[in-house]
Amino acid sequence: GRQKLIVANWKMNMSLQTITSFVEKLTLAHVRSDVVICPSFPYLFPLSELIQKFNCDVELGAQDLHWNESGAYTGEVSAKMLLEADCHYVLIGHSERRDSGETDEMISKKVKQAISSGLKPILCVGESQGQRQIGKTAEVIRKQVLLALEGIEDISSLVIAYEPVWAIGTGLSATPEQAQSVHQLIRKTIDVQYGSISESIPLLYGGSVKPENASGLSAMTDIDGALVGGASLDAESFAAIIRGF
Ligand code: 13P
Repeated sequence: GRQKLIVANWKMNMSLQTITSFVEKLTLAHVRSDVVICPSFPYLFPLSELIQKFNCDVELGAQDLHWNESGAYTGEVSAKMLLEADCHYVLIGHSERRDSGETDEMISKKVKQAISSGLKPILCVGESQGQRQIGKTAEVIRKQVLLALEGIEDISSLVIAYEPVWAIGTGLSATPEQAQSVHQLIRKTIDVQYGSISESIPLLYGGSVKPENASGLSAMTDIDGALVGGASLDAESFAAIIRGF
């Protein structure tokens, strides 16, 4: 079977002080499964030191990257810089970035750059409330997945996160059945394009994941882990979610 993968997306939260106690508490919680933390850029280096200091079994991810190697791109961060900061993963196409103007074309260039640099992309897809209401969920998801992967041959390091926009930060998680049905569709979409490698691609669910709903989601065949926002800011809640999966 596929290894479970639990990812914390801290978004624009935490501080130098809170990341220290977080790593300490998470280490004490003795988490198993693969765990990734995606902090804001300035915390990558201090986090990497803390992880070593406490011998904490987690990996680092970034919340974004640029598709070019280097150059006149003020405010942007390159794949190489992320690798130097001990990052192994990178979130790409989060709905909060799509909201601020990130297009499928930009997302596809970022996925390409991540893969060719040796970073594992966590591609985020998800429909809005309105799109779900008019029955467009499957179409939206299939399109987001295919456009993001256009021209990409090697998807062996790819992770996909399904995050319905209406479930993000609302407290209203998708039901395990709703999530499973979209995860199945994503796996099918990958299978049609890439064949049996689809069976080994980790598919994460994100959107109001909490300790209380983790095990219900985890029981679904095609849900291989979680992408956790709000509940990942507290080490105890995050550890409880990891245990639930
Ligand atoms: P919440 O867990 O706060 O709903 O956020 C989900 C998310 O956007 C993770 O990337």
